[in-house]
Amino acid sequence: MSEAASYSVRDGIAVITLNNPPVNGLGHLLRKGIMEGLQKAAADSAVQAAVFIGSAKAFSGGADIREFNTPKSFEKPSLPEINEAQDAMQKPLVAAIGGFAMGGGLELALGCHYRVAAPKAQLALPEVKLGILPGAGGTQRLPRVIPVAKAVEMMTTGNPIPAEKGKELGLVDEIVASDLLEGAIVYAKKLVAQGKGPRRVRDMSAKIDGDVKAFFAQAREQVAKGSRGYPAPLEIVACAEAACTRPFDEGRKFERERFAVLVETAESKALRHMFFAERQTTKIPDVPEDTPTREVKTAAVIGAGTMGGGISMSLVNAGVPVTIIEMKQDALDRGLATIRKNYAATVSKGRLKQEEMDRRMALLTPALDLAAAKDADIVIEAVFERMDVKQDLFRKLDAIARPGAILASNTSTLDVDQIAAVTKRPQDVIGTHFFSPANVMRLLEVVRGAKTGKDVLATTLKLGKRIKKVPVVSGVCDGFIGNRMVEKYGQQSLFLLDEGCSPQQVDAAAQKWGLAMGPLAMGDMAGLDIGWEIRKRRYVERPNFVYSKVGDRICELGRYGQKTGKGWYLYEPGNRKPIPDPEVDRIIADYRNEIGVKPRQISDEEIVERLIYALVNEAAYILEEGIALRASDIDMVYLTGYGFPPYRGGPMFYADTVGLPKVLAAIENFRQGYQGGVWKPAPLLVKLAKAGQRFNG
Ligand code: NAD
Repeated sequence: MSEAASYSVRDGIAVITLNNPPVNGLGHLLRKGIMEGLQKAAADSAVQAAVFIGSAKAFSGGADIREFNTPKSFEKPSLPEINEAQDAMQKPLVAAIGGFAMGGGLELALGCHYRVAAPKAQLALPEVKLGILPGAGGTQRLPRVIPVAKAVEMMTTGNPIPAEKGKELGLVDEIVASDLLEGAIVYAKKLVAQGKGPRRVRDMSAKIDGDVKAFFAQAREQVAKGSRGYPAPLEIVACAEAACTRPFDEGRKFERERFAVLVETAESKALRHMFFAERQTTKIPDVPEDTPTREVKTAAVIGAGTMGGGISMSLVNAGVPVTIIEMKQDALDRGLATIRKNYAATVSKGRLKQEEMDRRMALLTPALDLAAAKDADIVIEAVFERMDVKQDLFRKLDAIARPGAILASNTSTLDVDQIAAVTKRPQDVIGTHFFSPANVMRLLEVVRGAKTGKDVLATTLKLGKRIKKVPVVSGVCDGFIGNRMVEKYGQQSLFLLDEGCSPQQVDAAAQKWGLAMGPLAMGDMAGLDIGWEIRKRRYVERPNFVYSKVGDRICELGRYGQKTGKGWYLYEPGNRKPIPDPEVDRIIADYRNEIGVKPRQISDEEIVERLIYALVNEAAYILEEGIALRASDIDMVYLTGYGFPPYRGGPMFYADTVGLPKVLAAIENFRQGYQGGVWKPAPLLVKLAKAGQRFNG
């Protein structure tokens, strides 16, 4: 028998044990082993029933992602063939679910005739999260086992349900509180003793009362509302309807057809790209996975402002004790009060227990003396964004921090190498660029300096994952990956205003395309003064970098965005909803007069192309310069830090989907237009477009 599954017989009960670590992914060898186990159990006259069991961690996580896109995933037996063998089995089959049964793993359990589960087990059909549907009978079996409304909910959200809920709904027959295998064998013996044979899900009817048509009309309407941009949820509803209205085999056929359609959609391809991209970001070619890491038991955060507070929360949320250090008592008090207020808001929404909040707050130690950082394994500074301030701080830290401590900077623009250079330990210095709000946003750009030690990089990446971030490595450059790109995007958004757009037209087009927020509303949220400061610096440092001055005109009037109640839009007190402001239209019109531009009508398509291709072109430079390691890392930066819609897969994946020759042609065209001089096609883009290749391999 294949090693990935073992077979034994105990007291007339066959035990088929899935053994394909780490999650019992249903790879080829495991599928083969399960099939052989089934055949043995069927053939052995001493066997009266069979139990399927995985590990304590996982019954099965479904398809083996290591086999994705390889011929192995198609090798026989397939999961549906195993399901057929399960259906044909004359002896009762019991799935013993420990850990989790996800996707194909739950479909395997649904192919069994009975299911028992450990109390902490989790059950899910999460395929929708990859833009597909459970394609091995899940959409047909689940609605026959639990009420159809619940099945639709489980499959369209993809969220797991705990074993107890499964028991309540009928997905789990019994919860086994003691040893799972023993309990499952006892359960199987009981079935045999009671003369209970196979109970095939395929022979059951869907669990629905009342008017099926009316139910699905309403389900469709409800699911459509929540699934803008994604086709899979509605296809799942259609499959569930088929489970209610068609015989099992016809329903399966329909499911197979819909699966085949979804797999080919751009949305599903984008979501699958994102799934794999996330697993790539910590793979660094010259830093092997077995690189030794340093232990991080405690942290110090310097600065209790916007970022220091959020960073501290991220750390204590993961159980890392933090000493939070400020210069003055009132700033420290304010910082801690903000943290407390944030937690209290989560408690009041019922999403955090009071005890848990107390436990987290207790992990925070406030301090006013930098010497309090002396025992920390990692020190993260989030003080003012000025080179002199940061260098002064790092000099002091160099004298205070214990040998081997990691010294990290949260700078968003400054040169990490220049910061490292003032210390005697540049190998211990690294950038950790969090995004605001730092306790919420998943992105963490990890800035690798020229002298950053490999173990320091590996440790920081590991810590990033531990605090539930998506760490993406960036080389040193102004703005790193994300903000360097966004500058070009912002530049285009202002040129669009010069040429004839209103802020609301630009934002609406971007949002309709799928961005969480348009560029001008985003500026208002971040604070327009921040961009203004950068531009002022640029006017001196890089006089060739052209900006529309319309952004400065807005700032000169003290309109800094949400924080001043006025920016590109108006804001009512306590409300973040942007309200178009005729005053802004006047400012823009005056500016157009001043520069002699006659406004023209600009299509939404052009708006989106100019914004997105500005990102793509800069990203191509970033990739070529080796600032980013791979195109998919850039995609992850935008997906997790900039509200890029997952169904577009990130800017690079989107450009690949459009086709690089088309992207290049559009850029060439923009070169002829207003401020066309800023468009310089990246050599990598030109090369790949000519060769018919993609950014993402
Ligand atoms: P902030 O002004 O809200 O907070 C900075 C805090 O640092 C202040 O409370 C100040 O009292 C304290 N501080 C200054 N010097 C200090 C010192 N020597 N010792 C102890 N405390 C000191 O600023 P912020 O928005 O939190 O930004 C902090 C850093 O994070 C900057 O480098 C910024 O560029 C970066 N950053 C900011 C954002 C953002 O969206 N705000 C995003 C990413 C990165």
